[in-house]
Amino acid sequence: MAYTYDPQNIFARILRGEIPNKTVAETAHTLVFHDINPHAPVHVLAIPKGPYVNFDHFAAEASVEEIVDFHRTVASVIADLGLAGEAGYRAITNAGMSGMQEVPHYHLHILGGRVLGRLVG
Ligand code: ADP
Repeated sequence: MAYTYDPQNIFARILRGEIPNKTVAETAHTLVFHDINPHAPVHVLAIPKGPYVNFDHFAAEASVEEIVDFHRTVASVIADLGLAGEAGYRAITNAGMSGMQEVPHYHLHILGGRVLGRLVG
């Protein structure tokens, strides 16, 4: 699969510092920030810093270091935000047309702080 990355997408602009964000955590390979239009009391977005359009692109082409960094950073944010264990959370990613992905830079939504209801189409 050949992936085309648009360097003008809004998250690329956030990573370049052209648009502000409310950062929750940042590492060499990963940025976690608050969603501008939260759907739950906690709604953050985790993105890799590399140019990956969606989950399957990231999973296929990112380095092991990037993939581990991303997931460990997400796990520590989940703990820091009080969502680990019994409280719980939902981690979800949208891809392409069927997933109604708006921003073509891979991002994981992490939602919590209330009972989120069943996941339905
Ligand atoms: P959808 O909007 O259908 O959830 P995505 O999965 O692509 O599509 O999600 C994009 C997310 O990015 C949305 O939740 C939106 O609120 C968020 N968003 C858009 N612009 C910004 C921004 N400048 N800062 C933070 N979050 C943003």
